[in-house]
Amino acid sequence: MSNATTTPSAPALHLDESIDEFMERVASQSPNEPEFHQAVHEVVKSVWPIVESNDTYREARVLERMVIPDRAILFRVAWADDDGCAQVNRGYRVQMNDAIGPYKGGLRFHPSVTLGVLKFLAFEQIFKNSLTTLPMGGGKGGSDFDPRGRSDAEVMRFCQAFMAELYRHIGPDIDVPAGDIGVGGREIGYLFGTYRKITGQFHGVLTGKDLGWGGSRLRPEATGYGSVYFAREMLATRGMDVEGLTATVSGSGNVAQYTTEKLLELGAKVVTLSDSSGTIVDPDGMTGEKLQYVMDLKNRRRGRIKEYAEEYPAATYLPGERPWSVPCDLAFPSATQNEISGDDASTLIANGCICLSEGANMPSTPEAVDRFLDARVLYGPGKAANAGGVAVSGLEMTQNAGCMRRGRDEVDQQLQRIMRSIHQNCVEFGRKDDDFVNYVDGANVAGFIKVADAMVQQGLW
Ligand code: NDP
Repeated sequence: MSNATTTPSAPALHLDESIDEFMERVASQSPNEPEFHQAVHEVVKSVWPIVESNDTYREARVLERMVIPDRAILFRVAWADDDGCAQVNRGYRVQMNDAIGPYKGGLRFHPSVTLGVLKFLAFEQIFKNSLTTLPMGGGKGGSDFDPRGRSDAEVMRFCQAFMAELYRHIGPDIDVPAGDIGVGGREIGYLFGTYRKITGQFHGVLTGKDLGWGGSRLRPEATGYGSVYFAREMLATRGMDVEGLTATVSGSGNVAQYTTEKLLELGAKVVTLSDSSGTIVDPDGMTGEKLQYVMDLKNRRRGRIKEYAEEYPAATYLPGERPWSVPCDLAFPSATQNEISGDDASTLIANGCICLSEGANMPSTPEAVDRFLDARVLYGPGKAANAGGVAVSGLEMTQNAGCMRRGRDEVDQQLQRIMRSIHQNCVEFGRKDDDFVNYVDGANVAGFIKVADAMVQQGLW
């Protein structure tokens, strides 16, 4: 860690400011962005002692600089629906921090997308990307466009209109977007095709591409697999393994599907999946065949998870509910932010949950996080547990730059190595006096130091 001597004339910053005062300033500078404030507060609580004890960080005002994006681009996306009617959405790209590499982070297409949501995601991405040890800065983008219920042709026209503006702001050495909620292989294809057409250039400007035109093996699987690998590392610290344990998974999209696949492969019993309408509970546990049904239902037919209970009558459908009241040893929130409330956390703990690995970004509310930590649950925060996706995206970037390809086993080995190294970093920076590992502090501090040092070394920008 950098800790140079204070220059006598330099003003001592933060010295009189409390975390609450710092957060008041953040809130007044970025009003009506509660998710962003929540994400900043969590990081600030962890890194405050590091910043307070480090003159260089204070003088360089690294924390104050980190909470303001390098830039946030807002643009109009106008496109025609299948009836020929004009539709208008808002498009965004938040380029948060590129001190350790080009901006990197997904695109989210969902009606809940706002500037504040994308700022929270881009902020989280800074530390997540730093933890992977790969040279990637933090960014995030998207639109309030809702792909649900839209035809392929409408999704294509929307993606074309979106990229017609975004292409000006991205590039393989500038900013490399990927998928997120509502943006999978289909959307990445339309976005890449538009970029190539407009610029006349074929290079690695997006990750999550199809294997046939520059994609990496295991990229679709990487976030879900990585989240299970992270849970396995956490369990190993208590001499346990996932085999034979019962798991609840939320969501039924990309991350939930591949979390389930890896859990089944490692011998766990998966009893739930969900979507924004409700949860299915399968007391018999899922199987490879049932998962294939879900993949076809969600990825090809674009159906709803309640159809699972019609296909498999032993399962029940709980409309409007989340999976957290279902007893489990392991929980894998893999849908969206703030999907686990403080009460949900208490229910999970009371029902015997010992380990929670966040495939989603910030799925636990601050109250839930406090309860997990108080109960000494093995709690893996998203910026560590779901970093596998961006890690394999980083490998895809190096593959594109070097015009080479890696085999599935090689990528899987790299993914496991990276998740192990993230876990070790969290343990190193998060171990408390009583030997309990606070993975929140560990991830935040380890991710922060590398970026803060880079910012100090590169001067005041
Ligand atoms: P998908 O779009 O593939 O799936 C999202 C799933 O979450 C769907 O089942 C969706 O249900 C559900 N969902 C979305 N919004 C809500 C909501 N407001 N309430 C309840 N359920 C909701 O997205 P991903 O699987 O890619 O992403 C899931 C999470 O993982 C997100 O938090 C994302 O940021 C995070 N993540 C994803 C990465 C990736 O590589 N894809 C990388 C790292 C993190 P419905 O169909 O009803 O909308």
